[in-house]
Amino acid sequence: MNHKIVIPEFMDESAVQRLRNMGQVLYRPDLVEDRKALLHSLSNANALIVRNRTQVDHELITHAPDLKVIGRLGVGLDNINMALCTEKGVTVYPALGANARAVAEYVIAAALLLLRQAYFSGGQVIKGKWPRTKLSQGLEISNRTLGIIGFGDIGRLTANLANGLGMQILAYDPNLAQDSPVWRETRATRTELNDLLGTSDVVSLHIPLNDGTRHLINAHRLALMKTRAVLINTSRGGIVDEQALVEALVAGKLRGAALDVFEDEPVKADNAFPDIPNLILTPHIAGLTEESNVRVSETIAEKVIGHLAAEL
Ligand code: NAD
Repeated sequence: MNHKIVIPEFMDESAVQRLRNMGQVLYRPDLVEDRKALLHSLSNANALIVRNRTQVDHELITHAPDLKVIGRLGVGLDNINMALCTEKGVTVYPALGANARAVAEYVIAAALLLLRQAYFSGGQVIKGKWPRTKLSQGLEISNRTLGIIGFGDIGRLTANLANGLGMQILAYDPNLAQDSPVWRETRATRTELNDLLGTSDVVSLHIPLNDGTRHLINAHRLALMKTRAVLINTSRGGIVDEQALVEALVAGKLRGAALDVFEDEPVKADNAFPDIPNLILTPHIAGLTEESNVRVSETIAEKVIGHLAAEL
């Protein structure tokens, strides 16, 4: 009962309540904004629960000498110094799979919007314009090819949804063996990266950010894509070279793009993104829905409670 649990980002209230039964909980969803106070709060903490904004780096970990467990309200671990956690005996639990459906549905929605383009007319209709001819060349998603880069939890769920819409699925994931049953189960064709880029109508990224994937989608690879194709990035900022993407869009070399993640988050007011309808920008919310917030929070509360109980 003496455990101290610090939660510096938002978490579903009922899961926070469950943690309160376990020990002393400091739940301040805005604590991530005040680094000094956060570090101070960790001096006697046994558990820390974060989203992706809290930088769990060398400085933070050395300010938390009693830390035993970190719960990650999401799946990417790029904000956590995993090597140091291992060295210090701190266990890290991601909420594997708990927000996959939210991301997969975002991808399908963005693909439908960007292919069809019919929804880009609100401002013009209000002004009494009638851009019917311009917006009558939308594409149907059925029979189009979806290229998925990174075929893990989210990539596979996206493939399953896309199968329901009659899409053909290509996937690139060098870590997934050729004879894995996943290829048959998802009806996806294992494809090399450049072939996938050159063939797909929708390209969606579902890989972690690391030294090998930084700027994987650069000017050279964007140039391989069809001009009618769209790019969707819900994985991590930094995987797409944003400047190269903007140049391709402005030059009309790509039909459209949706970015939910950015090299620099939150995006600053003096950013270089053009205000064009075929570039959908969202503030890292692909994995966030009412339902996924509950699933992710419950999963992590359970992991952290189980871990702390085993420590007793
Ligand atoms: P996952 O670990 O289940 O799958 C990732 C897959 O990528 C693995 O199959 C792996 O083999 C593959 N991979 C790794 N390096 C690769 C490379 N260089 N080329 C091709 N494939 C490679 O992860 P997931 O749960 O599917 O999540 C995927 C990404 O989505 C992560 O980066 C995660 O951070 C991000 N994500 C974003 C949001 C959001 O709100 N925008 C929410 C959840 C997850």
